[in-house]
Amino acid sequence: MIPQVLVVEDEDALSALLQYNLDKEGYAVTVAGDGEEALVLIDEQMPDLIVLDWMLPKVSGVEVCRRLRARPETRNLPIIMLTARGEESDRIRGLDTGADDYVVKPFSMSELAARIRAVLRRIRPGLAEDRLHHGDIVVDRAAHRVRRAEKEIHLGPTEFRLLDYLMQHPGRVFSREQLLDAVWGSDVYVEARTVDVHIGRLRKALNRDLNADPIRTVRSAGYSLDVAA
Ligand code: CA
Repeated sequence: MIPQVLVVEDEDALSALLQYNLDKEGYAVTVAGDGEEALVLIDEQMPDLIVLDWMLPKVSGVEVCRRLRARPETRNLPIIMLTARGEESDRIRGLDTGADDYVVKPFSMSELAARIRAVLRRIRPGLAEDRLHHGDIVVDRAAHRVRRAEKEIHLGPTEFRLLDYLMQHPGRVFSREQLLDAVWGSDVYVEARTVDVHIGRLRKALNRDLNADPIRTVRSAGYSLDVAA
């Protein structure tokens, strides 16, 4: 699992430096030069974390943050805000923008990398783990095995990837298009209803002999793994 990081920064030199260094840290990096482009890119492919500059053309970093927090599918998306030293950073701390962490410019790449690791560990522990746990479901990534209530569950490769992805983001609602991008890849053309078919198979496999369905269908929105499973 390579975490996808979206860098939103209008200073080209800093943007290039961030891209180079985060790439070296093992992240898949995408860059946007303004807030509007960032929102479009997030719609196309959901990143695992955003490094977001506070001062941006078109749509400001704070406004991007506010809009992402207002939408259910991006409400829990990890955001690290970059701020300039001085008034902005004081103001930003006083504001409830919803960012998960702040880094004040100028900063060292090792400091930013440490903050990114800390935020991902806190919010997305699944990215780094060999085993994912959710309720009575255990996904063993190394052995490619799934158990529910101590019973072995047999899944096809697509259902396995779907479950793995949902277990990394309990409670987050994904549209069919987002699941297609994450599980099938954005280069592959698959119809959205294919997702329904595989969710159906995943449910059937997981819910055998059990009543509680851990997957929630959100009308006209998509699917999520129930937080209370
Ligand atoms: Ca800026």
